[in-house]
Amino acid sequence: MRSIHLSFGDTAVINDLDLDARSGEIICLLGPSGCGKTTTLRVLAGLERPDSGSVEIDGQIVYDQSVDAAPESRAIGYLFQDYALFPHLTVAQNVGFGIQEQANAASEVRALLDRVHMGQFAHAMPHTLSGGQQQRVALARALARKPKLLLLDEPFSGLDTALKIQLRESTHSLLKEIGTSAVIVTHDAEEAMFMADRIALMREGRIVQLGTPAQLYNRPVDEFTARFLGEVIELQGQINGVLVTTVAGEFECDTELPSGAVTVLVRPEDLVVTPGDGPYRIGHRHFIGSHTLVDLFGHDAGLPDIQLSVPTAKAVLLERGQPVCPKARCRKPLLITQ
Ligand code: ATP
Repeated sequence: MRSIHLSFGDTAVINDLDLDARSGEIICLLGPSGCGKTTTLRVLAGLERPDSGSVEIDGQIVYDQSVDAAPESRAIGYLFQDYALFPHLTVAQNVGFGIQEQANAASEVRALLDRVHMGQFAHAMPHTLSGGQQQRVALARALARKPKLLLLDEPFSGLDTALKIQLRESTHSLLKEIGTSAVIVTHDAEEAMFMADRIALMREGRIVQLGTPAQLYNRPVDEFTARFLGEVIELQGQINGVLVTTVAGEFECDTELPSGAVTVLVRPEDLVVTPGDGPYRIGHRHFIGSHTLVDLFGHDAGLPDIQLSVPTAKAVLLERGQPVCPKARCRKPLLITQ
């Protein structure tokens, strides 16, 4: 996508958006509700017409000032949020809907259903299937025409946690096995990190940062990105040259900033606590499995309270009311803001 602009009435919904997906790559469009993720997907699909810009799929211009290819001629597969299976057709008929005219349609459908582990449900009607089974049928249908690009809009929303985790895994391995490029819309950062080769984080119709999950998580370009990708802890500090002094130790800044007060953002796992002296007191411990979230109260020392993620085996050694001092495990914070 090149320089895409799109407005609904007076409201600009996509602002100068550029996006490239490599062959076989999974890109996740991630961002808060209303930032333009679905609209971007619909532009790729040809369901929404941008005001300007161009769209190219596998070397073919499908949209620009003079071209506007119909959705069915764009070599794309679209998996809608609600799966949109035809209720009056069987599973096999749903999957074969777009390829009926092909001589080998029946064997293609069988192969696709086997691939998504739905072979034994070929003659079932959609309403007799669970949400997860419907999702797999919809995926098989989207793949039937061998798309160059697969578009998935919130494919795992509305499923319970266990099924969601299972389907994420199977969809990811299926997409990688087939090697189709895919663009997936999600507002769930963890899901994007799990599924994506690269994440495009969107805000107000723009891509704020495009990169691997680790790049966005560890090297966010701004505070919005840092907070969207995961928990952050704010530490107050004083900067002198490139060194920032905080209660948790010293951090290094990439560039020299004017001396004075700064806020240092770090991930909870980048701080460790050991019992002993310190300005914080241990508060409540929230057991969440392998890790425990530990509240640290700093108000007696005039410090904002923080919550750290501590391996449960270590957290059991911490006692309520005990004084502690968090220590930074690395000298590079996520961000330093003035
Ligand atoms: P969500 O996660 O809530 O689905 P999103 O990031 O996918 O959000 P879009 O659905 O792309 O966002 O919508 C972006 C903005 O455009 C929203 O403010 C939405 O209300 C508006 N919008 C979307 N489609 C239309 C339309 N057909 N007419 C007018 N406004 C629209």
